[in-house]
Amino acid sequence: MSAGAGEEPRLGWYGRCPCGGTYEERWVDVRFTDPHGSSGRLTDVPQGACVLCGSRVYKLAVLQRIEGAFKGALTDEAQ
Ligand SMILES: [Zn+2]
Repeated sequence: MSAGAGEEPRLGWYGRCPCGGTYEERWVDVRFTDPHGSSGRLTDVPQGACVLCGSRVYKLAVLQRIEGAFKGALTDEAQ
């Protein structure tokens, strides 16, 4: 079998933690607060948590979703 050049070998794979552990996928709530003090919350956000050290990572698409929600809050505040 030839190895592909894909960055994500399979769904739900977060790669390997620098400590040597692997990331386990779980679903969490993410809260954020913008500079104006208004806060928002995203539920059921997929997150990778290292089984050894507890380090947490998010996929790029998830980060963009959080960022988008954050900007949405800012835009809403400005109008
Ligand atoms: Zn780790």
